[in-house]
Amino acid sequence: MRLLIKNGRVIDPSSRTDETLDILIERGKIADIKAKIRIEGIKIIDASRLVVVPGLIDMHTHLREPGQEEKETIRTGAQAAAKGGFTSIACMPNTNPVNDNRGVTEYILSEAKKKAVVHVFPVAAITKSLKGYELTDMADIKDAGAIAFSDDGMPVHNSRVMRRALEYSKPLDTMIIDHCEDLNLSENGVMNEGYYSYLFGLPGIPSSSEEVMVARDIILAQKANCRIHIAHLSTKGSLRLVEQAKSQGIQISAEVTPHHLFLTDSMIETYDTNFKVNPPLRSQEDTEVLIKSVKKGIIDVFATDHAPHTPDEKAKEFDCAPFGINGLETAVPLFLDKLINKNIISLDRFVEMTSTTPARLLKLSNKGVLKKGADADITILNLHKEITVNVKEFRSRSQNNPFHGEKLKGCPVMTIVGGKIVYSDLN
Ligand SMILES: [Zn+2]
Repeated sequence: MRLLIKNGRVIDPSSRTDETLDILIERGKIADIKAKIRIEGIKIIDASRLVVVPGLIDMHTHLREPGQEEKETIRTGAQAAAKGGFTSIACMPNTNPVNDNRGVTEYILSEAKKKAVVHVFPVAAITKSLKGYELTDMADIKDAGAIAFSDDGMPVHNSRVMRRALEYSKPLDTMIIDHCEDLNLSENGVMNEGYYSYLFGLPGIPSSSEEVMVARDIILAQKANCRIHIAHLSTKGSLRLVEQAKSQGIQISAEVTPHHLFLTDSMIETYDTNFKVNPPLRSQEDTEVLIKSVKKGIIDVFATDHAPHTPDEKAKEFDCAPFGINGLETAVPLFLDKLINKNIISLDRFVEMTSTTPARLLKLSNKGVLKKGADADITILNLHKEITVNVKEFRSRSQNNPFHGEKLKGCPVMTIVGGKIVYSDLN
């Protein structure tokens, strides 16, 4: 299919582009990009007053298939991603069976090919069954198509195992995505440890639970001279460690989720389990420092940590409900409303954190850019359109999202994957 996107404000941080341009799409690729392309007889998308950016990439999604299809499937998760403005998602291995071997990676890729409207890139487990003891056959799974390795949901407690995983990641030219948590410190905690956990009478998870593991893995990555990516960073102490590591030239990157930027532990007041997430929502002070670090460039990536759960599970008491927030369909509107439209960060920085940098870290060479020959993965944003978050309208199979009812200004209005329109709400 041929498509012409006309008169959009085209933003591509990789080439420092921010100007009104047309983009011609042919056979799934960007065939041309310049001002005033004139071609007759093809589908034209009028993008005047809209922003056209390289397709957004979510490095941290839980698709739940195989094994927990009542929460999400590859099909519904991909639809949610498309509505949320994402053209590519990386899915975490804590499925059932765990993605700890070539068979599961191949299964996810083949199902995605048949059923997913966006690109799905499997992240495979570091250790067998996510148990933290025995490394997976990383070379074999990478060969099958895994894009990175993570035991996300669980930390790798054993330092020797983590050391080996980091060492192997280097010759394989892959990356460890690190869920940093000391389970002994988290113990049976269900929210951030601090004033509010005492007030609400809930067991707390201290900041140190995250920070000791960030510190350990910085040391291990430095010794292995390899890359490391910190998932869902949530505390100011972790930020300090990452900032220091970067200043020493250690190859570290970090991601932050919308909920850790825009929600705080005080909101657990109503014991609404939609606010229960791991790492937990932190203090007001942590969120302020996180936002400053986004501005300063210490945090590299925005990621959703999309973690769907059924209503029955989330209907349990706060102590017993599972951790996780359903995030694919609210992330971009939240960033546009709370960071772009409030002039906290520039659009350029937003695109860098949600497309350019994820593409670079995951080595998706033809993505995260708008240039001739690149994949025609494109997201179109309307910065002025107002929406009210309604979980009943989610394309995701689950609805566990604490932003229900919130009014937000700015949202994705079209998602194009490989030259095909997979989501459109241009009105
Ligand atoms: Zn995690």
